[in-house]
Amino acid sequence: MAARPTTRFAPSPTGYLHLGHAHSALLAWRAAREAGGRFLLRIEDIDRTRCRPEFTGAIAEDLAWLGLDWDGPVRVQSAHFREYGAALDSLASRGLLYPCFCTRAEIAREVAAIGAAPHGPAHGPEGLLYPGTCRRLLPAERAARIAAGQPYALRLDMRAALAAVDGPLTYEEVGEGRLRCDPARFGDAVLARKDTPASYHLCVTHDDALQGVTLVTRGEDLRAATDLHRLLQALMNWPEPAYRHHPLLLGPDGRRLAKRDGARSLRELRAEGLDPSAVRAMAGV
Ligand code: GLU
Repeated sequence: MAARPTTRFAPSPTGYLHLGHAHSALLAWRAAREAGGRFLLRIEDIDRTRCRPEFTGAIAEDLAWLGLDWDGPVRVQSAHFREYGAALDSLASRGLLYPCFCTRAEIAREVAAIGAAPHGPAHGPEGLLYPGTCRRLLPAERAARIAAGQPYALRLDMRAALAAVDGPLTYEEVGEGRLRCDPARFGDAVLARKDTPASYHLCVTHDDALQGVTLVTRGEDLRAATDLHRLLQALMNWPEPAYRHHPLLLGPDGRRLAKRDGARSLRELRAEGLDPSAVRAMAGV
């Protein structure tokens, strides 16, 4: 890991920040500040159906109230679709992507039709593994469907991608050493969605590379994604950061804090009269 790490907090503005976010942001901020490194704030708002501008403004405000400061301008992903498109073009030009026209229902039907494997249908970290239907389409069929205006996602041809990189991939997990990656468990992952011209996996790795992030600090829930992220970094010749996946903050019921479970937001805690140091203590950092 770099002696003066560049860390980042990269929330999606789908709601107000809660204590789980504060925990993650404070860990990243402290890792940078204690070592004289840099701390960046990035807004991951590519999903235009779930993200709202008022939450973007609230994120900066809540972090500043907590006492966090960040270096340089805030990167807002939705302003950079063209850059993500260029990365996709690079992968496509090497035959590593293919258009997928399937709907969720079609994928489920196809998986059922393939027949029940002894342990049921194959699942990856993101649910049912894609059975590869559109990978097998002939070029003329693909072209005809695109010309007819059928919406499509772009999927990574996992087998081709693994063949394009050297040897097994690993990453450095702070406190644990080098860990082996198994990106194949994602199957042919979606890198551009039908409704969004890029996916989380593509944008996050693109931006970590562009912004010189050397230490990715994020929740344990994203640990599996790192296997796929390392593959994208290898394919794109992007530098490899170190990772620190921190345990998720749990609520009193022992379950992870999330907006949908009514976790109180930082602004609710603030409205209840708590001061930043009390909230930082609650966030466990
Ligand atoms: N934007 C992602 C989220 O809010 C986090 C991305 C990351 O830290 O890699 O869950």
